[in-house]
Amino acid sequence: MPLYPLFADLADRPVLVVGGGVVAERKAAALLDAGARVRVGAPALTATLAHWAAQGRIAHLPGRYRRTWQEGAWLVIAATGDSALNARVASEATARRRLVNVVDDPALSSFQVPAVIDRAPLQLAISTGGSAPALARRLRENLESLLDPALAPLLALAQRYRPRIRQRHADLAQRRRFYDWLHDGPVRRLLRAAQPALAEHVLQLSLDAPGLPAARSSVVLVGAGPGDPGLLTLRALRALNEADVILHDALVPPAVLDLARRDAERIAVGKRGGGAHVAQDTIHALLLQHARAGRRVVRLKGGDPFVFGRGGEELEFLHHHGIPFEVVPGITAAVACAAYAGVPLTHRAHAQSVRLVTAHCRDSLDTLDWPALARERQTLAFYMGVGSLDTVSRKLLAHGRAASTPFALVENGSLPQQRTLAGTLAELPGLARHHAIAAPALLIVGEVAALAEPLHWYGELLESCSRQPHVPSPSAAMADAA
Ligand code: SAH
Repeated sequence: MPLYPLFADLADRPVLVVGGGVVAERKAAALLDAGARVRVGAPALTATLAHWAAQGRIAHLPGRYRRTWQEGAWLVIAATGDSALNARVASEATARRRLVNVVDDPALSSFQVPAVIDRAPLQLAISTGGSAPALARRLRENLESLLDPALAPLLALAQRYRPRIRQRHADLAQRRRFYDWLHDGPVRRLLRAAQPALAEHVLQLSLDAPGLPAARSSVVLVGAGPGDPGLLTLRALRALNEADVILHDALVPPAVLDLARRDAERIAVGKRGGGAHVAQDTIHALLLQHARAGRRVVRLKGGDPFVFGRGGEELEFLHHHGIPFEVVPGITAAVACAAYAGVPLTHRAHAQSVRLVTAHCRDSLDTLDWPALARERQTLAFYMGVGSLDTVSRKLLAHGRAASTPFALVENGSLPQQRTLAGTLAELPGLARHHAIAAPALLIVGEVAALAEPLHWYGELLESCSRQPHVPSPSAAMADAA
């Protein structure tokens, strides 16, 4: 038989928990959250339960279980770890028609406690009817990551304004449209942006203004990370789930786009060295057009939108046109490639600073401060540099960086086809040519890059011909397999 789902109001109602261990403590905590008058019956209590009893937050019924403990209780929870005792508590509760839960024993229970996603006043409860609590917990984790934390304050606000909203929009259809706006528009966005006072102000204004508020329009600038979908943030995932339109760069792989809402329109505005090129003005115009049409626009960029991503220019443009926006940072290529190549960007023994440098074209290379870049004990991370490896290596050497300075060149970082080339600065251009390294690749120069050899763990490691090829020892591989 399927269970009958139920949310119980336990405020000020006596509830009995039998057992004084950690499980009983967890149950008591959840019941206290719901405002129940919790009685805990057990010969001994955990330190926390004892503390709560001393504070008067719970009532302690000492000694061995007695039937009289059940008097006046609306619900009973048996959490003793002694199955005979649990069974006795359950049968005596059932005889008195009290709902009883025996922890981890659906057969003895007349009610079960679901896995809960809490955005109070919103609560989502998941039950597998006791058949697979572990699955319920996993589902809970999945859903938890999809639900915006701003939902809780949004619902609390909506609850407080409900009478006013009802009065202002007496017509049901109109009220629905108002709620759509409330749940989706600027109020929610401001709550996400940690501006609750402003959010409430906007809600008030909308109730004072004539008619219904205008359709939502906003843009979320999202960093997609370096390519591995596992490196998206939860916020990025939520934005992708809510998007109507996604304007994405070429660097964003299909595996990331696959996570977006199915019916979101995807528009590639990629700019890849040499390939199809969409002018920045065209991107701006598309952003404006879709935002003004009231669509939820996600501008999805590889890595972090503010690191060599022209995200700043796009925000300035939106700001100029009065389009509200949010920004979701992403893991930038330098951070991701370093992690996936086993190169700690800073290391107490080798580097005290990191520089993110663009080696995009002649002009940008000429204006760099090479004497500063050539100094020791710092790590350099060059973006967009595959075409300029000769120049980068030559300039650093010319300004005094040692020929033996290690480098790690990471191609397709964090993707299954990642290759890491390791060697010394003097060999860099030749080795890169030999292995036909292509964009996207990130170059790390500095003492820390030598750690790629021992610490490398992802993808293929290519090393200079002068060294032995890197083959994991069979014993290490066996240890992995075990
Ligand atoms: N905003 C992006 C950088 C865009 S510039 C970020 O924060 O990562 C594009 C350059 O980033 C590429 O030329 C390359 O140098 C680097 N890059 C991006 N993704 C990469 C990846 N998966 N592996 C190696 N380099 C990458």
